[in-house]
Amino acid sequence: MKELIVKELLNADRVLVVGHIMPDGDDISSVLSLSIALKKLGKEVVSGIDWKIPWIFEDLEEVEEIVDYERFKEMNFEPDLMVVVDVSSRDRIGDFKELIGKIKTAVVDHHTTHDHFTDIWWVDPSYGACAQMIYKINKELGVKYDERLATINLMGVLTDTGFLRFPNADERAYRDATELVSLGGKPYKISQMILENKRLEQFKLFAEVLENLKIELDGLLAYSYVSQEMYKKHGCTDEDSSGFVNEIRSIKGVEVAVMFLEIKPGLVHVSMRSKEWFDLAEFAKKIGGGGHPRAAGATVEGKKVEDVVKEVVPLLRQEIEKELKR
Ligand code: AMP
Ligand code: MN
Ligand code: MN
Repeated sequence: MKELIVKELLNADRVLVVGHIMPDGDDISSVLSLSIALKKLGKEVVSGIDWKIPWIFEDLEEVEEIVDYERFKEMNFEPDLMVVVDVSSRDRIGDFKELIGKIKTAVVDHHTTHDHFTDIWWVDPSYGACAQMIYKINKELGVKYDERLATINLMGVLTDTGFLRFPNADERAYRDATELVSLGGKPYKISQMILENKRLEQFKLFAEVLENLKIELDGLLAYSYVSQEMYKKHGCTDEDSSGFVNEIRSIKGVEVAVMFLEIKPGLVHVSMRSKEWFDLAEFAKKIGGGGHPRAAGATVEGKKVEDVVKEVVPLLRQEIEKELKR
């Protein structure tokens, strides 16, 4: 419950705020917005994400303060509360999961597949972005917003709603975004950083992705992949390919888009998007992942990307066909 989390936050002196691995805009926004707010209230705060922060977010100087688990251990920081944000299950926080059970842990999350791995939680999938939930908490904490905090908080609202154009961009998302703009948030700074900041290498990699694109089920299903070889050939990493799946969904007639990303040798991330009716949260759970109805993912270890494609596509095809017959 939100009230309990607000109370715990007010009582805590030292707080560790943790986000998920393979961080996205909403995750980084949620971690930083809560961290900045708690610092404004005079608390000692450490922000943790056990993953490399994608280069696209490096324009935000605040991301420099985010530590991975190894650096966190070196700090000898003893939090009296850990708050996990935008996270649906314990395996999504990397090695910070070792702290669960040792430190009082609360979670703020908006995933439909949330699996309640902490004692204290506020989970509400009706929010398009976790950053909106953080905004609500910060308001209740009485935090004063300035341009930096408003812009960083706005980043999560914009990125998880596809810049206010996905079905989760409801009236409340528009209202929260408007309020954050009134508080000094600068949406153009976020769109420049996220949307107008691409490397030419990304386009070249995407061109190869399009060459390998498969379209099935009368155009409803579209998928492609990036192998380690392809990343290397174009001088790219997984940080460069996170937007590809949205591009593929934008093809006329496509309901389900999937990108199979071999982010490291032996580690394949399955990134999925749907447009109107196919429930990907349900499907992602079947293959060991999670997410939202229109955006979900799963990570498969110990297999080559071609093999993951061969395993997942028939299952997905089957589920889409089942839905079509309903
Ligand atoms: P992505 O395709 O990686 O952008 O992820 C889309 C959505 O699915 C995000 O909300 C993620 O939090 C969620 N998600 C991605 N990968 C996983 C996973 N391995 N397990 C659970 N949820 C995931
Ligand atoms: Mn989110
Ligand atoms: Mn996220």
